[in-house]
Amino acid sequence: MSRRKLAKHSNYKCRVCNQSLIGEEQLKVNQIVPKRLGGDECYDNLELLHQSCQLQHQVLLEKYGEGKELPKVNAFFNNNQVEPNSQEGYKLMKEAFKKFRYQQV
Ligand SMILES: [Zn+2]
Repeated sequence: MSRRKLAKHSNYKCRVCNQSLIGEEQLKVNQIVPKRLGGDECYDNLELLHQSCQLQHQVLLEKYGEGKELPKVNAFFNNNQVEPNSQEGYKLMKEAFKKFRYQQV
């Protein structure tokens, strides 16, 4: 897996803070659809985030995941008649992530 390819895929921007990925801060590979929802290790499901931003993302998944809100996430995919681990699924998840308010986590 090439990080450069992933960075290019996100236009060298971090999805969480909207800042450039090119800088001092450490980067982490993030799984868009989490493994427990059937997310894959393929390029479509991976993105580069700043380390601190990825942490925020993880906190958010803890809050909404781990069985608490996971049925809601699954229902969300069902309502859209999309498999979570499909290309459309990843797209849908990305769209949903955009609506999250990371700063409040
Ligand atoms: Zn960031």
